[in-house]
Amino acid sequence: MACSYPPTNATIALVTALQALRITGEVITTPYSFVATSHALLWNGIKPVFVDIDPHSLNLDPARIESAITPHTTAIMPVHCYGHPCDVNGIQRIADNYNLKIIYDAAHAFGVQDAGGSILRYGDLSVLSFHATKVFNTFEGGAIICPDEKTKVRIDQLKNFGHVGETTVVAPGINGKMSEFNAALGLLQLQHIDSALACRQKIDEAYRLKLAGIPGISCIQGSGECVANYAYFPILVHEDYFLTRDTLYNLMKEKGIHPRRYFYPLISQFPMYRGLSSAHPDNLPVALDISQKILCLPIYPDLEMSVVDVICQLIANPC
Ligand SMILES: *Cc1c(COP(=O)(O)O)cnc(C)c1O
Repeated sequence: MACSYPPTNATIALVTALQALRITGEVITTPYSFVATSHALLWNGIKPVFVDIDPHSLNLDPARIESAITPHTTAIMPVHCYGHPCDVNGIQRIADNYNLKIIYDAAHAFGVQDAGGSILRYGDLSVLSFHATKVFNTFEGGAIICPDEKTKVRIDQLKNFGHVGETTVVAPGINGKMSEFNAALGLLQLQHIDSALACRQKIDEAYRLKLAGIPGISCIQGSGECVANYAYFPILVHEDYFLTRDTLYNLMKEKGIHPRRYFYPLISQFPMYRGLSSAHPDNLPVALDISQKILCLPIYPDLEMSVVDVICQLIANPC
């Protein structure tokens, strides 16, 4: 597996990955993600086609992909949401049948492995984010993971203005290079990544234990067969909880706790997307329902267990 020099950030990496594979027309993607996933398509003049998610993995539902394919479809861009792997084999089967490329937005998936190794080996390309909010960060940064040297050469050209040598330019490339300063920060962070992941795992386990049995609260389960990265701690706030999701969210903020509503609203609800026929709420009932219930609780390596206790006690007794 050849890793290109890391780009400026995952957004530029997604834009460049689409260009590296010469993707055009329509691309099938998930509405349940950070907006950069779809923006990368618009920046390439590509039409996003939204397909609903699976209610358990919260990733693109392969069973719904086929009916969204048209003669203009050239690729699928799924997201390993929260670092939980997509149904990579189901998606690959569809891509093979219809001759489509797959670019994984793997922004959340640093370090995640299945039985065969890194999940970044699936699809044609995978894109990581090293933004400050991600598990491994360079403050701003990202990477494109590609399986062959030829594609890597093209990616390296596209992120360096399209230059080949001093006097030749072969493509309208962009300045997508990572700065040396960001790279140096990343090298320092890499020294501590194993202990950071171990701390996250402990916090994840503590949350699951302490939140168990609270009526109306459920924790999202990752795939048991994976080496996880504990990038997020998503819970669902159901109708039978004491408060609405947003009342709980505001109450926590008042107490100085800062959960995030990843992902609310759906990408398909933003003004530049909502006119698309695939963005209609009737097409995306699962994603819409989850976006109204989701809350990601604080998780970071030096989050103290006493604070995890306070957060869980507040959720258990909010009134
Ligand atoms: C963070 C994120 C991005 C964008 O990453 P940047 O490095 O900030 O450009 C793209 N997709 C997803 C799913 C993300 O969470």
